[in-house]
Amino acid sequence: MFSFPISYEPPVYRPPSEARSLLIQVTIGCSNNKCTYCDMYRSKSYRERPFEEIERDIKKCAEAGLSPDKIFLCDGDALGAPMELLERTLLCIRETFPDCRRVGIYATAENMLGKSLEELKRLHDLGLGIAYLGLESGDDKVLHMIVKGNTAAEMVEGSLRLKDAGIKLSTIVMLGVGGVKYSEQHVKGTIEVLSQTCPHFFSFLTTFSVPGTPYHKMEERGLIEPLTSKALFKEMHDILNGVKFEANPVIFRANHVSNQFPLGGTLPRDQKKIVETLKEWWRSAPEGVYPPRPASM
Ligand code: SF4
Repeated sequence: MFSFPISYEPPVYRPPSEARSLLIQVTIGCSNNKCTYCDMYRSKSYRERPFEEIERDIKKCAEAGLSPDKIFLCDGDALGAPMELLERTLLCIRETFPDCRRVGIYATAENMLGKSLEELKRLHDLGLGIAYLGLESGDDKVLHMIVKGNTAAEMVEGSLRLKDAGIKLSTIVMLGVGGVKYSEQHVKGTIEVLSQTCPHFFSFLTTFSVPGTPYHKMEERGLIEPLTSKALFKEMHDILNGVKFEANPVIFRANHVSNQFPLGGTLPRDQKKIVETLKEWWRSAPEGVYPPRPASM
């Protein structure tokens, strides 16, 4: 029986589109670990793994006969790791798995701005193909409220630097994250940041407050009022209706476990059709109904 050659320090997360990728932990936890809605790495203290451990994992996978098409570097914001560690890791992957087509990573604006354009270019030359950014919102008030750690302007600057380096950008927006009070400005700011950064991929997650998180406590105290399904459809509709993607075609997906209905297409080509669908969903959704919480959350 095949037993997987390496073990992980749990919990381990990866974007839905990296479901078939080989996961390699370069860092443990998240160097920010403060976002009020996130409980992913609260049980872990952030640290960078020594290169020798990472190398051992990569070699063990090769010895076990794995030949991954794609590799994803964990944990929460591995792009924040020092250049030397990332360069040695990417080089080791290239030498060990010459057929690996793409290496992906999670990134914060802090991580992207912590590297110069030349450094990001070097990482791209060594095989880093895509970075996933949790933008969550393009509004400063909302970003401050959820303690994201970066402003909208920094999100734009970091995203553009990453794209200039040749690395593909996948941006994730959280529907309903500002609650009822900030919904309008969340939509407005998010349209601005998305239009300015024109990511290669863009997706939505629906905000569900996780018990035990500061975000959940704020909701319990009435400081954040969650959005109904109807209001969430309106946010999605308004964002997609407002964004202007001119620099490059953007692949849009809203198929995460937290989204109510899957939806997707290439923008701006399919924008009109998607906006029409969302308008229909928004108008026909009953008042006062909240989305069902996904079983796997
Ligand atoms: S940066 Fe990402 S992983 Fe880290 S706390 Fe925020 S949402 Fe969670």
